[in-house]
Amino acid sequence: MSVSHSSRLNKGVRDQYMKLPQAGMVQVTYVWIDGTGEGVRCKTKTLDYEPKSIEETNLRHTCRRIMDMVADQHPWFGMEQEYTLLGINGHPFGWPENGFPGPQGPYYCGVGADKVYGRNIMECHYKACFYAGIKICGTNAEVMPSQWEFQVGPCEGIDMGDHLWMARFILHRVCEDFGVVATLDPKPMTGNWNGAGCHTNYSTENMRKEGGLKHIEDAIEKLGKRHNYHICVYDPQGGKDNSRRLTGQHATSSIHEFSAGVANRGASICIPRQVGQEGFGYFEDRRPAANCDPYVVTEALARTTLLNETGSETKYYAN
Ligand code: ADP
Ligand code: MN
Ligand code: MN
Ligand code: MN
Repeated sequence: MSVSHSSRLNKGVRDQYMKLPQAGMVQVTYVWIDGTGEGVRCKTKTLDYEPKSIEETNLRHTCRRIMDMVADQHPWFGMEQEYTLLGINGHPFGWPENGFPGPQGPYYCGVGADKVYGRNIMECHYKACFYAGIKICGTNAEVMPSQWEFQVGPCEGIDMGDHLWMARFILHRVCEDFGVVATLDPKPMTGNWNGAGCHTNYSTENMRKEGGLKHIEDAIEKLGKRHNYHICVYDPQGGKDNSRRLTGQHATSSIHEFSAGVANRGASICIPRQVGQEGFGYFEDRRPAANCDPYVVTEALARTTLLNETGSETKYYAN
């Protein structure tokens, strides 16, 4: 387990400087999605006021347009961000230097130093998200050791992408303080180890009301006719990254087939058991990869289920 040199610095010294008065100035950190569509970068400038606006990347801009078009349906999203902690040598954090931990089984939602690695990081990230106003709603240790998940939502429309991207930035920043790296690679370890996804839970006002199951089923039918398009936009490599993860094993569906079911973790789309029983609520698209762009994923769901797009092409809607 190799951690970075900076993690060994005496962090107590930093507090002395951080306690200095701010002198009426505001340090504004700009965060943006880089050219890979996957990484985040930041830089800081001094302002003498607190700005309110969010800069628009292109992908946010198109997502916003689609969300504006479907605003009357009040689409809600909740995303389950899985990630894996790595040492700076690229090896999973806490794993034996040469070799592997015992097989999967005891780690999911585990407790104990032999079951979960890096809980401090998860806890600090959770708190930092609260402080930043991110709608984080839960967390758990994952099936593969040193893999974790946090959930953000429910968020309406464009808020989903905004909140998840910021939660990711904070994750990378917290990990930096601890000297480890969070990867969103959808399959960081080959073999009998679970991959990392970003399950996307989705509902409209109609689905959340009595009789909503009918609307959920209608949406799933539309999604079933557009499987390839969704796979293409559910990771930054047009489906290539996700093909390592969506094997039909390790609680995933096959990338080649569309499937849906109640309480079925091996399906593309899962209707939660409770939703099936109550007859309304939301459904879960289990296909998006951990490194998906939430603007793109939520936009695709809205296009297919609310704008009734079909086929592989997305329409350009004039203003
Ligand atoms: P799982 O059982 O698949 O692990 P989680 O508890 O991890 O599910 O995540 C559930 C997600 O569903 C959360 O992100 C939550 O915000 C979201 N969610 C809950 N209700 C709704 C809803 N009505 N519409 C959309 N998303 C919802
Ligand atoms: Mn979950
Ligand atoms: Mn999970
Ligand atoms: Mn899930």
